[in-house]
Amino acid sequence: MARVYNFSAGPAVLPEEVLAEAASEMLDYRGSGMSVMEMSHRSKPFGEIIENAEADLRELVGIPDNYRVLFLQGGASQQFAAVPMNLMKNRVADYIVTGAWAKKAFKEAKIFGDARAIASSEDETFSYIPDCSDLDVSPDADYVYICENNTIYGTKFHTLPNTKGKDLVADVSSCFLSEPVDITRYGVMYGGAQKNIGPAGVVISIIREDLITDDVLEGTPTMLKWKTQADANSLYNTPPAYGIYICGKVFKWLKDQGGLEAMQQRNQEKAALLYDFLDASKLFRGTVRKEDRSLMNVPFVAGDADLDAAFVAEAKAAGLENLKGHRSVGGMRASIYNAMPRAGVEALVAFMDKFEQAHK
Ligand code: PMP
Repeated sequence: MARVYNFSAGPAVLPEEVLAEAASEMLDYRGSGMSVMEMSHRSKPFGEIIENAEADLRELVGIPDNYRVLFLQGGASQQFAAVPMNLMKNRVADYIVTGAWAKKAFKEAKIFGDARAIASSEDETFSYIPDCSDLDVSPDADYVYICENNTIYGTKFHTLPNTKGKDLVADVSSCFLSEPVDITRYGVMYGGAQKNIGPAGVVISIIREDLITDDVLEGTPTMLKWKTQADANSLYNTPPAYGIYICGKVFKWLKDQGGLEAMQQRNQEKAALLYDFLDASKLFRGTVRKEDRSLMNVPFVAGDADLDAAFVAEAKAAGLENLKGHRSVGGMRASIYNAMPRAGVEALVAFMDKFEQAHK
């Protein structure tokens, strides 16, 4: 077996212990005589899997009782529509546009009402987070929306915006469980699992209870109404059962690692290895404002497109995979989620150093 260091932005690296445990349970899940993949979602073993997953997530994050946890489908992209459908009572919402995913969410909200971009960093190709301390928040806004970590551009809100009392809705797909969070600062926090948590196909939405109502936009499909899923404990229809099972294992793994404080510490150390190298390098450079750098997605360039391409190809040959930047920005991007071991980042930095020496 030869596993590579996988720097993919998502689907992404998962903890090896989790994969090995899942493999050992593949044919016979704990004496049930079947795989979790073959099991009814109404069965006792699966009931325990989803209940334990939620309980472990709640403990890990410290989710208060007045927040619901929903395991959903449709990707983060489907929540781009579900958010306005469930929340846009006044048909007004304010969006902070800090990247491609925020922009997509903003465009989707415009289908349903008056979505306003109250701040944007598009003027400098999304290489920074705008000052959000005193924004022109619409008095009648139903919510203020952010994409907290911008996967493609590698920026992160290190300070949440001042929403002037409006509920904050955050897409946390690429920073989920990477550090401790205060859930009470959010009305809704949601993300796709396929970066920091589990396989593609699961979306987790953590929603304050009073925002889950029957008062949704006319025409909202039953499946997109959060209340449908909340009333059924995420079992209104067949959930992404196997994915939820893997997520549950990752939550246990995170607890074993020491929880979110420990992950933050480790993530800061890993990111520092890479950013310190980039800051000292004469060949490579990071592409975003230092104070807004993400701990999860680190974009960088080597100076020209040919060198970038050579770097990606040579890195791949050395077992460092998926370092090509997003097709919309080029260059490189190293995604170093929770499950990327420190040794992977060390190997990357050593390889970058070698490449730099060879291209002096
Ligand atoms: N939001 C963010 C921050 C993302 O990185 C992505 C990319 N996976 C999405 C939303 C879209 O996610 P999905 O493919 O699950 O719809």
